[in-house]
Amino acid sequence: MNSTPSLAALHAPDAAPVPEIDAELHELEEVSRNLQTHTLSANTRAAYAKAWRSFEGFCHGHGLDPVPAHPETVRWYVAWMSVQHDVHGLPRFSVATIRQHLAGVADHHLQQGLLDPTGHHGVSSLVRGLAKLRATRPARKRPLLLDDLLRIIAAMEHDAYPAGVTAARDTAALWLGFAGALRRSEAAALTLESLQLHPVDGIHIHVGRSKAGQDNTGADVVVLPFGATPRTCAPCAIHRWVALLLESITDNVRLYRQAVMSRLFAYQLDTHVCGVDSAGGGAGLISSSDLASPAPLLRATYRNRKNARIHAAGITGDALGAMLDTRMTEAGMDPGEYGFHSLRSGHVTQARRNGASTDEIMRAGRWQRAETVTVYDREFNPAARNSVTRLGL
Ligand SMILES: [Zn+2]
Repeated sequence: MNSTPSLAALHAPDAAPVPEIDAELHELEEVSRNLQTHTLSANTRAAYAKAWRSFEGFCHGHGLDPVPAHPETVRWYVAWMSVQHDVHGLPRFSVATIRQHLAGVADHHLQQGLLDPTGHHGVSSLVRGLAKLRATRPARKRPLLLDDLLRIIAAMEHDAYPAGVTAARDTAALWLGFAGALRRSEAAALTLESLQLHPVDGIHIHVGRSKAGQDNTGADVVVLPFGATPRTCAPCAIHRWVALLLESITDNVRLYRQAVMSRLFAYQLDTHVCGVDSAGGGAGLISSSDLASPAPLLRATYRNRKNARIHAAGITGDALGAMLDTRMTEAGMDPGEYGFHSLRSGHVTQARRNGASTDEIMRAGRWQRAETVTVYDREFNPAARNSVTRLGL
């Protein structure tokens, strides 16, 4: 213990000046240090250490100083924790856990005699706001079933310019979330070369890595099957959107508008454009060579009353969530309890209602454990595999 002054050192002339303390006080100092180590249980100390590592990692990732941390940095950290989700779409950090993380950050500062940045009003009000929000909103997003999805898509203006441009993108995104059971971050990260046209299956989607990747053994492949009708055909939605996207690769605004308009005005709700009828001579709107690009699939768009532009940059997961919100409102639905994850949980729920096995759902959702599917069943399909339906009532 270097910081404990020894009595000998007190009389050494060239030692750093320390307060004069008698033997009893010296002993009491030892006792107080010993007590100090017992103020926190081993579990709490471990939790604080873990919280501190997490906070430090966040700071380093964003070029921020962890010690001493500015209250603004702590606020960003709280905001970051509030939007982290686990594989079930549940918040990764409960409010109690967030408070514990803050306690860990506070402890680290106080131990060093620094001001506690988590005590700032701006930080505590943020946590209070989050606690309120979590209390009034169910943690898990409610599932959107097939009929809900068709209603949302039907409310869009598909055959008009400029509305049809975003309608095409949003329809494709919705089918990726529902038929593909993709998480929003997975949908946002797709590139054109993640897609592979398949003559029998519809479209294969390589999730999480490029299909050109060396290690294909562990690649997650999601299937978008041809729909029985064009209205339930996810490949049709992909073909329509990618075809518009390809028109945007020109600097000539006039040509782009003309090409996009003619595509939109020719939109036929009840005609397959995905090549499912290719045996009968009908090719899809796009071909495999159109997909040989690492460019993002779902793009950010800019739209005003007269024009809609497709950006080179990909859409964000947050924007996908906001999109669903807007589209549900436009369809006369209350988006309050729904999020992009509602499409994935909707896939599970709809498939279960239609008689899918746990194995089948695990495969589509790329879940390793059957228990995960059971969590969805318990919440949204209480009648599934439940003997109550076999009572002959
Ligand atoms: Zn189709």
